[in-house]
Amino acid sequence: MGLHKEAKRMEDQWFQENDTRLLKKLREEREARIREQEAREAKKKREELRNLHWMRCPKCGHEMKAEDLCGVEVDVCLLCEGIYFDRGELEALMLRQQADQRRGFFRRLMGLGED
Ligand SMILES: [Zn+2]
Repeated sequence: MGLHKEAKRMEDQWFQENDTRLLKKLREEREARIREQEAREAKKKREELRNLHWMRCPKCGHEMKAEDLCGVEVDVCLLCEGIYFDRGELEALMLRQQADQRRGFFRRLMGLGED
């Protein structure tokens, strides 16, 4: 193989490797764009769903109103009167009820009656 032929072969190889790198880079950029687009669409979809369902009864779809139930704020449907709890609200209500029952029990025990 002559010197000229060898130089030509190396040049071809360089271009080939460069093309491969360039194509890989373009593919990675395209995939990143697609992922960003998907994330944007998923976020938009979540927002749309929230706007559609926010403070709407899960059973009848009617408007709900936040109301105080024994010191815990719950959502009450204005049509079917269903009561819905946010995370932690049911536990808070149960703990409060237990405390009230204990207080009532001790009051009865001490002959103080209930108020
Ligand atoms: Zn309802």
